[in-house]
Amino acid sequence: MPPEPAPFRRIGERTRLELGFLTVATGTYVGPDGFTFERDVVRHPGAVCVVALDDAGAVVCVRQYRSAIDRYVLEIPAGKMDVPDEEPAACARRELAEEVGLAAGSLSALVTFFNSPGFTDETTHCFLAEDLSDVGRSTQGVEEDHMTIERFPLEDLDRLVAAGELVDAKTIIACSTARAMLAARAAAERVASASASTAVVAAGAARATRAGG
Ligand SMILES: [Mg+2]
Repeated sequence: MPPEPAPFRRIGERTRLELGFLTVATGTYVGPDGFTFERDVVRHPGAVCVVALDDAGAVVCVRQYRSAIDRYVLEIPAGKMDVPDEEPAACARRELAEEVGLAAGSLSALVTFFNSPGFTDETTHCFLAEDLSDVGRSTQGVEEDHMTIERFPLEDLDRLVAAGELVDAKTIIACSTARAMLAARAAAERVASASASTAVVAAGAARATRAGG
């Protein structure tokens, strides 16, 4: 058996630029062939996003101006993890209240993904918020002051993606995962209720057998 190639590994990193929440750095790495090389990367504090599902099965969204692409984007409430030591779930609850004025009676972790690992370590933690109640908004910054709240039925997700109306990656990933989680929950509930009725029938049959015997 030939020996396994050595894995890639990082052996150093120097900061090039600190700009607000972003840090641009140049890392030094060793490849499987033993040669060293450098790559420029962007360090990011991470973010959260929330699929807030109302009682009618609609996803609460915001339509806001995004400066990097100079256009409005329809997306789920989200924000950077820029409060020291704040857990992702707490950050999700804070963003949900700030951006759309909602609190969640139930908050479930959905999935965590890397937004664009070709150049940044940014991760996004996705949550599902249910049992919503109004708590009042407190928008942060000029884009949030001017964003509008919209809703779309979760069942329209594929159509809106295909139509180019949903173009935000975290929104598509989080809503797809939420839909899968809800389908799995509904299937489990069907199984539980079917086995509960089977148990009731079996108990009834057992009573009938005892009474008859
Ligand atoms: Mg935001």
